Amino acid sequence: MREILLLKNGEIVLKGLNKKRFEDRLLLNIKSRISSFGKFKLEISQSTITISPDENSSVDDIIPVIKKVFGIVSFSKAVIAEKNFEDVKKLTIDYLKEDLSILKTFKVEAKRSDKKFYMTSPEISRELGGYILENFPHLHVDVHNPEITVTVEVRDFGIYIRKNSEKGLGGIPTGTGGKATIMISGGIDSPVAAWMMAKRGISLTAVHFSSPPYTSIKAKQKVIDLLKKVSQYSGSIKLFNVGFTTAQESIKKYCQEEFFTIIMRRIMMRVSEIISVNEGCSALITGESLGQVASQTINAIDCTNRVVSMPVFRPLIGMDKEEIVEISRKINTFDISIMPYEDCCTVFTPRHPKLNPRVYLAEKEESKLDIEKIVRDCIQNCEIIEIN
Ligand code: ATP
Ligand code: MG
Repeated sequence: MREILLLKNGEIVLKGLNKKRFEDRLLLNIKSRISSFGKFKLEISQSTITISPDENSSVDDIIPVIKKVFGIVSFSKAVIAEKNFEDVKKLTIDYLKEDLSILKTFKVEAKRSDKKFYMTSPEISRELGGYILENFPHLHVDVHNPEITVTVEVRDFGIYIRKNSEKGLGGIPTGTGGKATIMISGGIDSPVAAWMMAKRGISLTAVHFSSPPYTSIKAKQKVIDLLKKVSQYSGSIKLFNVGFTTAQESIKKYCQEEFFTIIMRRIMMRVSEIISVNEGCSALITGESLGQVASQTINAIDCTNRVVSMPVFRPLIGMDKEEIVEISRKINTFDISIMPYEDCCTVFTPRHPKLNPRVYLAEKEESKLDIEKIVRDCIQNCEIIEIN
């Protein structure tokens, strides 16, 4: 009796002519994640993906990985019976005897995609339910809230007997939505923003600005560790660690203190846009959330947005901190994010940042700098780190 894994993909089903492209990508993403756990055969038919292990592999090993693949709505373990009801009865008892002997309630749900099968769905449910009760007389049928739902699916090449299904992550297969650049700090928000865009099918490149010696090697490592967590969902990420010390020292030397953050952000946006174009990315992503801090008011966002022309995605813009923290805990970035290493922003934070900066004033302050040269130096001062 070989246990397999059945996966249901959700939104992909809606993609019409693109369906094949989405399915192929999802299969590729799954394959690359599970390959280190053994040999598995993947097949797709009628929007269900079947993963069958060889005799040395087990589906239990890959379930934690499957829970991190975007594009899977639900999954369940199953076995395949031959296309006769006697085999279904026998295999159901064999496969589920451990569960059925300790549980108290169950129900059987039957579905037929092969309408030529000699029993109807209600017949299968009724007969199999009766057979289970004969074998486990302590059980009760509960159609509303059973502890286990035994799902029987009559398909073209066999009859699937499934255990309870579990929820997958949903979303769209990573890589089907193009590429974008996450501007990542060491904070709580940006890793969540990266994850949310990857969930919508986007492949990620990352840019981080660090200012050694004001920021430490530990702060850089923190960003790498955060991206490693994100990459478990999004696949590999190329990180550009941009040396930002000279830029920040110039800002500090020549500009009014209340504009430090805004001007720094405007330079970060410009540098990130150039890196994006070079890397074939078509959008920037930030972890901004409206009103969270002084640099995230409408005016401040306007000031930073103006210097780039590619779209800027801010998936957290309408979220409360609590909601963001909830996701960061779910994706295991929270504990890393709260580690207390200095970020280049915190090192140069003005005492009284401008709450509602006007674009023309920011531009006036900025005109005291040789922006082109600063941006060019940043681009030349990048370290590239591959995160897998
Ligand atoms: P986070 O938790 O992501 O740091 P935050 O609420 O602390 O966000 P800010 O520090 O104001 O917000 O930063 C706003 C956004 O600017 C970040 O979410 C991130 O996208 C980008 N950003 C900030 N600092 C850096 C940095 N050092 N390198 C790259 N991007 C940064
Ligand atoms: Mg921050």
